[in-house]
Amino acid sequence: MEKVISGKALADKIKEDLKVKAKGFHKNHGRPCGLAVVLVGNDCASEIYVNNKVKACETVGIKSMVYHIESTIDQDELCAVIDRLNDDVAVDGILVQLPLPSHINEKKIIEMITPDKDVDGFGKLTHHKPCTALACLELVKSVCPDITGKHAVVVGRSHIVGRPTAKLLLEHDCTVTVTHLKTVNLGLHTKMADILVVAAGHKHLITRDMVKPGAIVIDVGINRIDGKLYGDVDFDNVMDIVSHITPVPGGVGPMTIAMLLANTLGFNSLEFEGIRKVKLLKGGK
Ligand code: NAP
Repeated sequence: MEKVISGKALADKIKEDLKVKAKGFHKNHGRPCGLAVVLVGNDCASEIYVNNKVKACETVGIKSMVYHIESTIDQDELCAVIDRLNDDVAVDGILVQLPLPSHINEKKIIEMITPDKDVDGFGKLTHHKPCTALACLELVKSVCPDITGKHAVVVGRSHIVGRPTAKLLLEHDCTVTVTHLKTVNLGLHTKMADILVVAAGHKHLITRDMVKPGAIVIDVGINRIDGKLYGDVDFDNVMDIVSHITPVPGGVGPMTIAMLLANTLGFNSLEFEGIRKVKLLKGGK
């Protein structure tokens, strides 16, 4: 049985489906679906993330519009940019690449985005679920379609990954434990997980002795050390005891982008049920 869940392969399948949906959108609206990406300053990692999102938009036929803005922009000027994009009928989704420069109130900017255009799903009133949380759920469901009653343990409680992932798993009837830096004896909790989602940003935090045999492990972490990427899970050493695990890179990352495209086109994750089934059949199960 294939243990490694290829986020890239699943994302490619979903993008094939989104291509058809993007064509339908164009036909119905007389214009392509549009994603505005706001990038402030010259942070290298942010530029790479934005490029990947732009390329993915091209693949499925979403029109991306990148607003690359000087880091000296002030709060009012950036608010005016968001206002303009909120009013632009050719813009269906607005993504503000984080982090923003420290003199900008990030929360205020995100909350200004019209709820149905807030495709990252970070605003209080957003109509969308956050993309990384959706990615984690889709990856779990690709190998375990019914997660009702499973014990999910989430390592990390950030507002962009840990919390929304825990909330989504709870909405899908898992019993959820959320852990963080102050958690006493982390391994005691992670070892109880049927589904373990790790989003701490700490290379190989999760070692073999911290994983329950047969668990599904989703590694969100991206740790760049000497030019190489590592996850938060000691992949090589837990591999033989888990039932399934996502790799880094090639796991959560590509799926997060696929979910961004789905949000932009206005489709939620339940739409991919069929695609997940195809994957399972092809996997010979
Ligand atoms: P973050 O804001 O730094 O949050 C990290 C969370 O992990 C915090 O809640 C922190 O606890 C907890 N934590 C840190 N070290 C821990 C430890 N030793 N034991 C237990 N908990 C610990 O990071 P984030 O934005 O959530 O991102 C987490 C990781 O995911 C990063 O590596 C990031 O690059 C990656 N990421 C990947 C994607 C993707 O698409 N693949 C998307 C977003 C983020 P406290 O709250 O107590 O400080």
